[in-house]
Amino acid sequence: MTAPSGAHIEVTGVVQGVGFRPFVYALARRMSLSGWVRNTSAGVELEVEGDPQALQAFVDGLKSEAPPLARIDAVRVEQRPANGLSDFAILDSQAQAGAFQPVSPDIGLCEDCLRELNDPADRRHRYPFINCTNCGPRFTIIRDLPYDRPLTTMASFTMCPDCAAEYADPADRRFHAQPTACPACGPHIWLEVSAARLAEREQALQQARRMIREGSIVAVKGLGGFHLACDATNPEAVAELRRRKLRVDKPFALMMPDLLAVQAHCEATPADIELLVSPQRPIVVLPRRGESSVAQDAAPGQGTLGVMLPYSPLHVLLLEREPGYPEALVMTSGNRSEEPIAIRNDEARLNLEELADAFLLHDREIEMRCDDPVMRTFQGAPYPLRRARGYAPFPVRLPWESPVLLATGAELKNTFCLTRGDYAFLSHHIGDLENYETLRSLEGGVEHFERLFRAHPTALAYDLHPDYLATRYALQRAEREGLPAIGVQHHHAHIAACMAEHGLDGRVIGVAFDGTGYGDDGAVWGGEFLVSDYQGYRRASHLRYFQLPGGDAAVRQPWRIALALLRQAGLGWDADLPLIAAGTDTARGIVQRLLEAGLNAPQTSSMGRLFDGVASLLGVRHSINYEAQAAIELEAAVDPAEGGAYAFSIGPEEVDPAPVIREIVKDLRAGLPLGRMAGRFHNGVADMVLAVCEQIRERDGLNCVALSGGVWQNMALLQRAADRLSAAGFDLLLHRQVPANDGGLALGQAAIAAWRLNHDAAGESSGGAAAEGEVQDGGL
Ligand SMILES: [Zn+2]
Ligand SMILES: [Zn+2]
Repeated sequence: MTAPSGAHIEVTGVVQGVGFRPFVYALARRMSLSGWVRNTSAGVELEVEGDPQALQAFVDGLKSEAPPLARIDAVRVEQRPANGLSDFAILDSQAQAGAFQPVSPDIGLCEDCLRELNDPADRRHRYPFINCTNCGPRFTIIRDLPYDRPLTTMASFTMCPDCAAEYADPADRRFHAQPTACPACGPHIWLEVSAARLAEREQALQQARRMIREGSIVAVKGLGGFHLACDATNPEAVAELRRRKLRVDKPFALMMPDLLAVQAHCEATPADIELLVSPQRPIVVLPRRGESSVAQDAAPGQGTLGVMLPYSPLHVLLLEREPGYPEALVMTSGNRSEEPIAIRNDEARLNLEELADAFLLHDREIEMRCDDPVMRTFQGAPYPLRRARGYAPFPVRLPWESPVLLATGAELKNTFCLTRGDYAFLSHHIGDLENYETLRSLEGGVEHFERLFRAHPTALAYDLHPDYLATRYALQRAEREGLPAIGVQHHHAHIAACMAEHGLDGRVIGVAFDGTGYGDDGAVWGGEFLVSDYQGYRRASHLRYFQLPGGDAAVRQPWRIALALLRQAGLGWDADLPLIAAGTDTARGIVQRLLEAGLNAPQTSSMGRLFDGVASLLGVRHSINYEAQAAIELEAAVDPAEGGAYAFSIGPEEVDPAPVIREIVKDLRAGLPLGRMAGRFHNGVADMVLAVCEQIRERDGLNCVALSGGVWQNMALLQRAADRLSAAGFDLLLHRQVPANDGGLALGQAAIAAWRLNHDAAGESSGGAAAEGEVQDGGL
C-alpha cells in the first residue's frame, strides 16, 4: 500500500438542495477515505485523504456519479498531505459574504417518493407534500441563501421527531432535505367554497375531485402558483372556464395522469416522452390524435395539445385514475386575463372568486411565482417555448465573464436576465408587460434575483422600443442609480441570445423572424437577415417594407395587412377574394386612405405580419384573439405532401413578397385546396431563407446560420428551413435552452451589453448610453 495522500476540493454549480453532501459521504465511505464535506455560500467544499488510487477514483466519481439533479460547473482539486483524519464527517454550513451559487429549480416528484406516496404502510401515504433531496420545491420556496430551511417558506413548520431524525441522518434520503415534512408536522390542504372551509386533508381532495368530475372549476394551489382545473373532456366545463376567464381561443394547458393517457390523446416521439417524464415535467406541445376525447374548445383551431404530467404529489393525487374520473384535466394558470398567476391564498380568494367554484388551498407559502414551462421537441431535442418552473433560475453559461448587469427584456413574454461571472441567470416567464400588475411581478422578480445571487447591477440593458414598460423601467432605474444604460436592437438581441446559449463567440448569419421589433430607422422590423456578432450587426437583407394600415388595428385584424399586400403587389381588392367579406366597405375605404396618405400606416418588414396577411388572404382568419393566432392556424392548415413553392423576388438587400401574393391570388382563383396553398407558402419562405443565406455566405464567407425570433416556433417552417440549410452545408444554430421568442431576448441583451462593457473597460469607448445605431457597423 502506498502512503496516504490528501486533497482539498471545491465544487461549484447546482450542488445544494440536490443531495450532494450525502452522495459525497457515501462515495468517500465506499472508497474507504476519510475527511469532511460542507456547504459554503459558493458551493460545496471538502477534504479527503487515503490511498492515492482511491482518491483518484473518488475525484472521478464526483463528476461521473453525481446525483441526478446536481449540475457541476467546476471541480477544483488541490493536492495536500494527509492529516491523519480517521472518519468522514458532514460539517455545518459555512457562509461567505458576497459568495453566491446557482439555485436549484423546482423538481418533479421522484420515483422513490411516488412509491411511498402510494404505500399504505408508509407514514407519508397520500401526503400531498412528500419530497426528498431529489425532488420537491426549491426556487419557489427559497427566500434567501444559503439554502437552509429557516430561509425558506418551510420555516414556520417545526419538524416532528421522525422527520428530524431523517433530516439528520447522512444515510437517509431526506438528509438535509429542507422542505421535508409529513402529515404530523408539515403543510396540509383544505377545500373552500364561498369562503367557507368545507373539508380538510383527504376529504378535501376527494371533494375537489368530485366537483371536477361533476363539471365544476376548482382553483388549485400548486408549486409556483394557482391553476384553474376542470374536466378537459367535458365541453361545457371547458367552455364555461373559457367564458369566465375571458380567454377567447387561446389554448389551455392540460394535465394527464400518465403516459398511457398522453399517448391516447396525442402522438409523442421518444424525445417527447423523455421530456414529459423529465424532472422538469414541462408542458409539451404534441400533435393531437383525431380520436382524442379532449374538448375541441381546449385548443381551438390547433392540431396540437399542450400536455404535462403531474409534477407535485398533490397533482398525482388530483389526477389519480378512477373509473368515471377524467383522464385529462385543464390546468390553466390561475389568473384573471393577462394578469400574473396568483400565489397567495388571499390573493386567489379575491382575484379568482368569479372564476372558480371552489378553492383547494394549502398553507405552504409560495415565495416566488413561477408558471409552467412550455416545450416542444425538434430533431429529437428540446425546443423551448416558455422557460419557467423546472428550468429557471438555472443559469446559461456565457462564453466569457460579464460584469454584473441586468437586461430587462421585451414587452411580450417578458423575462429578465441578471449576469454575474460567466453565469447568465435568465428569469422565469414574467408575462406580457401590458399592465401594472405584471410590471410589479418583473420588479419583484428582479429584487429576488439580486438578493439570491448577491448581485447588484453596474449597468442595464434594454430594448430600443421607447414605449415598452421594461425599457422605461431600465431607463428610470439607470437614471436613479446613476448607472450606464445600453440600448440593444431587438433582432440583434435575438441572434445574440442564440449565440450565447451555445457559448459561441464569433460571427453568424442571423435570421431573425418575428412579429415586432423596433428598428434603427424607426420602422417595425421582423424579417431580418443580420450579419451579427456581439459587438454589432449589419442588416444584410430584410423583407421589403409593407404598410400596417391602422397600426395596432392591423395586428388585430390581418385583413388590413392583406389589403396592403395586395395593393403593394399591384392587385385590386376584388370582391371574389375571401378577405373582402371580412371588412365593410367603409372600413376598406379608411384603409385605402391610410395607405395612400401613409398616415397611421407604419412601415414594416415583419415576417410575422406577412404570415398574418397571407392567412387572411387565404381565408384562414381575418381577425385574431391572441398573438400569432392567424399564423398558427395557417401552419395547422399546411398539407405536408405539397412540394410546390411560391417564389419571393430576391434582391441584393431586400426580398419582395409581391410575386408570392400574385401567385396566391392566382391559386385562389384556380380553386387550389387551402392545404396546398399553405404548403406552397411555407415552402416559399424556406426557399427564400436558403437563397438569402447563400447570398450572404458568398459575400461574407460565413457558414453558420442562427435562427431566432417567434416565427421560428412555426415547426412547419422550421423543419423546411432547417432541411434546406443543412442540405446546403450550413451549420445551424437553433435555440435549445431559451425560447426563440421574446422570452429569450434578455439573454441576448445581456450578452451584447456585457461584451460592450468588457471592451469599454479595455479602452474602446462607446459612451454611457450608446444606442445600437452608433455602433451598428463597428467592425462589420
Ligand atoms: Zn423524492
Ligand atoms: Zn414530520
